Amino acid sequence: MQATVATARCGATSTEHVTAVRRIGGIVNEASDKRELSHPDLYVGRGDTVELLGMRCSACGHVAFPRQRYGCEKCGATGAALVDVDLATDGTLSSFATVYMHQAKNIAAPFVIGEVELDAGPTVRATMVEANDAALAVGVRVAGRLHPAPAADGAAAKFELRFAKAAS
Ligand SMILES: [Zn+2]
Repeated sequence: MQATVATARCGATSTEHVTAVRRIGGIVNEASDKRELSHPDLYVGRGDTVELLGMRCSACGHVAFPRQRYGCEKCGATGAALVDVDLATDGTLSSFATVYMHQAKNIAAPFVIGEVELDAGPTVRATMVEANDAALAVGVRVAGRLHPAPAADGAAAKFELRFAKAAS
């Protein structure tokens, strides 16, 4: 809703308008691909990249993830002040931990959980593509990508967001 209001002032043609809405708020996700996602409410695939479904407070500029409608966690603004934005997943690894044993039998270990400070603002925690931390260090550049998710028996394969060390 807010993105539509924001672009209505620009005088763009209807085609330009749809593109602008998609760029600003992800309301029209024509650019998203057809892969089935484990959490389509949290991220969207766009070719080789993945973007997080975040939000920006138009009152104070605070960018947050995930989207919610309770209010800005910084200034408390609500309603139309909260604008949907898609966030690039480029960021810097700020900490990580290797899990060698998981209580769920269907989750293969070891795996690495990383904490990523996104260039777009929020800090997120996610599974890393790397199965061990040999190539990881605090401060390395990382980016999100869609990775095949472990499938339950008989279930269709899905894709989940994982972070990986960026090619340098
Ligand atoms: Zn705010």
